[in-house]
Amino acid sequence: VRTSILRTGGEVGDLVGLWRSAGESVALVPTMGNLHDGHLSLARLAATQADRVLMTIFVNRTQFAPGEDFGAYPRTLDADLAAADAAGVVDAMFAPDEREIYPYGTDDAVTIGMPSLASELCGAARPGHFNGVGSVIVRLLNITTPHLLVLGRKDYQQLILVERLLADLRYKVRVVRGEIRREADGLAMSSRNRYLSEAERARAPALQASLRQVSDALTDGQRNYAALAARAVAALKDAGLRPDYVEIRRAGDLGQPGPATQAAELIVLGAAWLGRARLIDNVPVQPEGG
Ligand code: AMP
Repeated sequence: VRTSILRTGGEVGDLVGLWRSAGESVALVPTMGNLHDGHLSLARLAATQADRVLMTIFVNRTQFAPGEDFGAYPRTLDADLAAADAAGVVDAMFAPDEREIYPYGTDDAVTIGMPSLASELCGAARPGHFNGVGSVIVRLLNITTPHLLVLGRKDYQQLILVERLLADLRYKVRVVRGEIRREADGLAMSSRNRYLSEAERARAPALQASLRQVSDALTDGQRNYAALAARAVAALKDAGLRPDYVEIRRAGDLGQPGPATQAAELIVLGAAWLGRARLIDNVPVQPEGG
């Protein structure tokens, strides 16, 4: 498959219209570009579930809080196109200008107000972030009209909130969840990993390692959530990271678990700063005695 590049919503509408009238199913894989194997794994997953794969690259200004890295975010369109082309599963790449997505600009745009989960976990430190995510997702869905929406588990809170958004607004699109792709030492792949110096990169696997320790303790039957999270925060500090949070939540809806919640229903999530990179990760919990 050779990847064609589309710049306008009109071009996307024409191409998806052709696909749909031929009876083909369409999967959307939205990204902010600087493609790595995590993104490409979503495209490969999409290709197993749909006839056509449409990837988007758009660095969405409205999901960056004031003072965040919108300006510095890596923009590598030529390399991304080459990577998508080489993957051989991306039929088209939509790389729009901001005016295609926000025709009235970003300052006075219609926005999506996400439910209260949006101000917890990553949302506590990133005010407005998930409203920006919701706003761009509905815009991309309305332009591309896919049957499937493929999202990574890496951004687990985003995944849960987008699923909630789609259910609440009655979108007729099915979400497909992609597994987290990791480097050999366990660090979750991320476009922001390129912000890390060599010394920081060597410390970065501590995030997954400390979340995994919490996850293992939960599988072993421990339920002292606050103490487990505090121990992980301390381990992150010892490793030279600046932890934002470590929390144990219900995997289904990211609500607070109770003392009797089954291990298999739990997930451990964390975020930590390392240099100028804010790293996030999450680890599901294996069932007790499993
Ligand atoms: P981003 O470009 O960071 O906005 O991510 C675009 C999509 O790729 C989102 O659905 C992410 O969850 C997903 N993604 C990012 N990193 C990974 C990874 N390491 N493994 C799997 N999916 C990922």
